[in-house]
Amino acid sequence: MLNDALEFACPWCGEINQVETEPGDAGQWVIQDCQVCCSPIEIRLPGPGQDEFTVRAEGN
Ligand SMILES: [Zn+2]
Repeated sequence: MLNDALEFACPWCGEINQVETEPGDAGQWVIQDCQVCCSPIEIRLPGPGQDEFTVRAEGN
């Protein structure tokens, strides 16, 4: 699974964003600004062999 892109809904505005994932990021929290409202979003990327990931508004 190299450089996969995950789709997720922004917790601030609800718009669909994509985050590029790299193998070394598996299971890590990353912060990305929403491509629509520019608010910071924390994303916990899925670990190896996992599909689930968590998205939350940074600061919550
Ligand atoms: Zn947004």
